[in-house]
Amino acid sequence: MAKSNIGNSALITRVNRGLILQAVRTLQPTYRAEVSRRTNLNPATVTGIVSDLIDLGLLQEVSGQQIQPLSTLGGRPPMMLQINASARKILAIDLEPDWIRVGLVDLNMSLLEYSEQAIDRQDEPGRVIDRICQLARQVLKRAQPDGIDGAAMGLPGLIDREKGILQSSTNMPKWRDVPIAAAVAKAIGVKPIIERATHLAAIHEDWVATDEPNSTKLILSLRTGIGMSIMRHGELYVGSRGFDGEIGHTIVDIDGELCECGSRGCLETFVSPTAINRRVRAMLKDGRCQAVKAAMDRGEQLRPELIYRLASEGDADSAEIVTEIGRYLGIAASNMVNLLAPDSLILCGSIDTADTLILNAIKKQIDRSALPKMREHLSVRLSAAKERSVLLGAAALVARDLFALPRLRYPGMNVHETMI
Ligand SMILES: [Zn+2]
Repeated sequence: MAKSNIGNSALITRVNRGLILQAVRTLQPTYRAEVSRRTNLNPATVTGIVSDLIDLGLLQEVSGQQIQPLSTLGGRPPMMLQINASARKILAIDLEPDWIRVGLVDLNMSLLEYSEQAIDRQDEPGRVIDRICQLARQVLKRAQPDGIDGAAMGLPGLIDREKGILQSSTNMPKWRDVPIAAAVAKAIGVKPIIERATHLAAIHEDWVATDEPNSTKLILSLRTGIGMSIMRHGELYVGSRGFDGEIGHTIVDIDGELCECGSRGCLETFVSPTAINRRVRAMLKDGRCQAVKAAMDRGEQLRPELIYRLASEGDADSAEIVTEIGRYLGIAASNMVNLLAPDSLILCGSIDTADTLILNAIKKQIDRSALPKMREHLSVRLSAAKERSVLLGAAALVARDLFALPRLRYPGMNVHETMI
């Protein structure tokens, strides 16, 4: 056979494997006939590839009766297929300016082990990397996996994926061209893929929304920094040189406060943790926010989480702050809705107990600011993963590779393909 034909046939098998794994993941537990219908592959092809995937340990057979009692009169129930979730283990890391999360995740995106730790954004990068490595070693020690099949890390700021470098982050001023992937690889034995946190949140939402393959989703990530990613028909929108999504630095007040990026009146100057704390302090000076003061007198730290909790407990001043955050987020989101007319807007991140309050304020603002035709079919909802969406997105990024799904496309960059 000519060399190009061998290459084509390997590529076709790889694509078909990806299709079948994706179909099983979406339908599981399911029958081979269902997989054939979903993928449009003929039953013989499905049977052959399924057999390979069972040998590779990625799929497993389960008795149909175990899953769902069949009302047939005797006879052997047909075998069903499901992802063998424990066949592969992924180490996922999420670095935020004030927080590190590390988890070991299986192919069904279940957390097998997890650790998190607060950090100081002013810390030296070397010190933070040591903490990440320490947490990763703890997680692996507790889980005792036979090995890990991949690792990925979500990072705030601008990155060089190929070199594994965090180039800069507006919220972590000491980080300049830090080769973080290589440093973490030394501790865990596998070089992690690095990706922007906002992208990972979007990848996670797409991975879990198996019933909406042809939709356009906006994923608004509300963390130390604010980001927005666009997922369209299962593909992530990625801007020039891999950069995009900095909705936190879109300007909502041309004469506003100075932002950490050097501009004025960015969305982040209204909704970031620093902005929330600044606003609370101003209200305290006016004799307001007495519930916050009482909590601080009891030794609680002034953090957005405190304001969110008090707001959800009914404190009016805290609720006013949270509603204001939702209003500004709603203004920025409305601009995106008017531009893109998406099917859904999903809010994720560290929003804690005030999630419904913020969500309702965003919805209200979108109803006011977005054009009716652009928003009439829009679903605005919270991510079920909340603050863990980036961590689970890191795991989903590796799982996409393991399932041989198309890699993310970065304009002007080489795309490395991996085989199962
Ligand atoms: Zn800014």
